[in-house]
Amino acid sequence: MMIRLAILPLILALNFSMCKRSPSVTNGSQPVTSSPSPVGSPSPGIGGAAPSPKITKPVVDQTAQTIIFCYHRLVDKIRYPGTEITPAAFEAEMKQLKDAGITVISMQDLLAWRRGEKNIPPRCAVISFDDGWKSQYEVAWPIMKKFGYPFTMFIYTEGVRGGSLGGGEAITWEQLADMRDNGVDIEAHTATHQDLREGHNIMLAAAGGKRTRTKLTGPAYEQWVHNEVVGSKQLLEQRLGIKVNCFAVPFGNYNEHVKELARNAGFEAMFTVYGQPITFTSPLDSLGRYAIEANKPKVFVDAVKMIGTSSGGAAAVAEVGAADLSTQPPDGSTVHTALRLIQANLSRVSGIEPVR
Ligand SMILES: [Zn+2]
Repeated sequence: MMIRLAILPLILALNFSMCKRSPSVTNGSQPVTSSPSPVGSPSPGIGGAAPSPKITKPVVDQTAQTIIFCYHRLVDKIRYPGTEITPAAFEAEMKQLKDAGITVISMQDLLAWRRGEKNIPPRCAVISFDDGWKSQYEVAWPIMKKFGYPFTMFIYTEGVRGGSLGGGEAITWEQLADMRDNGVDIEAHTATHQDLREGHNIMLAAAGGKRTRTKLTGPAYEQWVHNEVVGSKQLLEQRLGIKVNCFAVPFGNYNEHVKELARNAGFEAMFTVYGQPITFTSPLDSLGRYAIEANKPKVFVDAVKMIGTSSGGAAAVAEVGAADLSTQPPDGSTVHTALRLIQANLSRVSGIEPVR
């Protein structure tokens, strides 16, 4: 009887620790499908045979850091220095990344790292282009190809050519499809690129195409913002046959309500334009990007310096030698069973945070 009473609190404690693994956009946990089986539940082995081995995550370097850049138009003659850069200046920056030993990785690799599924180099960068300008297709893409860099396009759907806000400089759906076919990551940036918070000034297209300034509240706002956040994602997914999991917030103007909408729509990460190094613990619903503009070249220089001198890049946990771990069975021994328990003494390894 005494033994049974002692076991009960132990089972409760185990269940509590499992609960904390529930996935959410803010803590970067694994999706539900790859969570370990609940305590005591039967394994879905064929015909109730022996339990299938658990798939374990690779050990990722949690000290790695990345910076995310955001570019807009590439033009030879700068007229709007707040959102433009010359192709020459852009190419020079891409080269600087290479020269500084900063690896350019894809957005999806960054997210896979945050899920604990994939390692990334200790110092790396992600490149993104906002708004869907044709110069991103015609000018930026060939430069990115030259360096072999992956990148992400953040598109607002009404700004694509043919949409209510898509002018002659806008990218076309055909160009986006071409990028998709060649591995370019295409993600969401709303429908009409406006302040997403309730009660803020927005422009609304009235009947006949005339646009009027207004403020929406209540159900009218909810309907509008749903289309901006959820509708734009669905449109990109349907027209391009892709999976959209990233959301760049126009001007960085959002709040908890918008975050919740985006989270419920299936966005895994949300991005602002408040540049900062991204670490393993940066909240996934407000990842800051450095917006690079012709009139602020120092932003790029500072961002590169930031990742160059940050505390990231320390020895990866995965590189710890077996001799330091006092493993059981010992390093080099042959194991004859597929499911042999392997134990390691981690007391001499610093920088490990227990996952709860
Ligand atoms: Zn934008």
